[in-house]
Amino acid sequence: MTKVCPRCGFENPDNVYSCQRCGYPLIEVPQRMPGVQVQSQPTYQQQFATREKPKFPLLQVAVPIIAGFIIIAILLSILA
Ligand SMILES: [Zn+2]
Repeated sequence: MTKVCPRCGFENPDNVYSCQRCGYPLIEVPQRMPGVQVQSQPTYQQQFATREKPKFPLLQVAVPIIAGFIIIAILLSILA
C-alpha cells in the first residue's frame, strides 16, 4: 500500500508520515476528509434539486410539443 499525498499526488511509501515531495503530513485516517464532504454534498444537492424541480414539468414539455403539432397541422391544411 502506498500513501498518496492529497496535496501533490505523490505516492509515498506506507511507512512515512509526511509527503516525501512536499512535506504534507500524511494522516493515518485519510477517509475522514471525504466523509465530511459527502455529508455536506447531499444537503446542497437536495436544496439544489428542490429549487431546480419545476412545478409543472409535464406542462413545460407538452406545451411546445402541442404547439409544434398545431403549427404543423396549420401548415398542412394551408398546403392542402
Ligand atoms: Zn505531497
